[in-house]
Amino acid sequence: MYTDDFGQKWYKVGLHIHTTLSDGALSPEAAARVYKEAGFDAIALTDHWKYHGPDEIAGLKIISGCEYNLGTTDSVAGVMHIVGVGMKQDPCILPTATRQEIIDGINGAGGLAILAHPAWSLNTTQDAQALTGFGATEIYNTVSDVNQSSRPYSGYFVDLLANHGIAYPLLATDDVHYYDGNDEAKSYIMVAASSLDADAILQAVREGAFYATQGPELYVSREEDRIIVRCSSCTKIMFLSNAVWAPDKILRGEDLTYGEYPLKDFEQWVRVEVVDREGRYGWSNVLWR
Ligand SMILES: [Zn+2]
Ligand SMILES: [Zn+2]
Repeated sequence: MYTDDFGQKWYKVGLHIHTTLSDGALSPEAAARVYKEAGFDAIALTDHWKYHGPDEIAGLKIISGCEYNLGTTDSVAGVMHIVGVGMKQDPCILPTATRQEIIDGINGAGGLAILAHPAWSLNTTQDAQALTGFGATEIYNTVSDVNQSSRPYSGYFVDLLANHGIAYPLLATDDVHYYDGNDEAKSYIMVAASSLDADAILQAVREGAFYATQGPELYVSREEDRIIVRCSSCTKIMFLSNAVWAPDKILRGEDLTYGEYPLKDFEQWVRVEVVDREGRYGWSNVLWR
């Protein structure tokens, strides 16, 4: 947690974590210690089909969670993984449930339904548009890069959805399984919340009061017809929108901490990505015009 110049508290949160309760390599105790050591303020334990309630383990706040994965490995037959966090009680969802029933079960238990790693699963915008009740999606999923399929980044999916008028809050998560130095404590969200209370954290996520990151700090706002970016030292600031091309969509430099982007007449939405010298990314949410 840190407090910014305006007195706002920012909490470091990981919302997609596996342990030995399903197919993760570390016990909940050991996993909590890893994340506590890495400076996280809270994590959700989201083992496959194993609801883990709110808790405190090894001094780290645990937000309730579970991952409901449908389909096996054949994306032609259909794969969709839905993570629920912040449920007040076990929604007791059965493996025979449909996609919509899983989302409804999570929401019915007071949780946030997250479409996990859509790029890895090869989910389409039609898949998402056929469903209601998603509260967020992952734009980046660490394990999908280093240990699984090399398809961690869901920007293409997110941008197509925005063209259809849909923008879920965009999370970065580890989806850690291996704890081998490659998939733990890499990608997370920094949440602007009034306290570390799970309800406060999840309310801020629903409202988009956070940024997703692997390290860079990122604050994006719209001032009239300009997008304003403030960030920690980066080498690239990128503006993604329904305009596939414009001369000023990438700013480059050795030590960029500020950027501006004038909206074009036809631009309906914009989101921002930054990269620092170590190649670590930060991702904003989608801003509507
Ligand atoms: Zn998954
Ligand atoms: Zn997972």
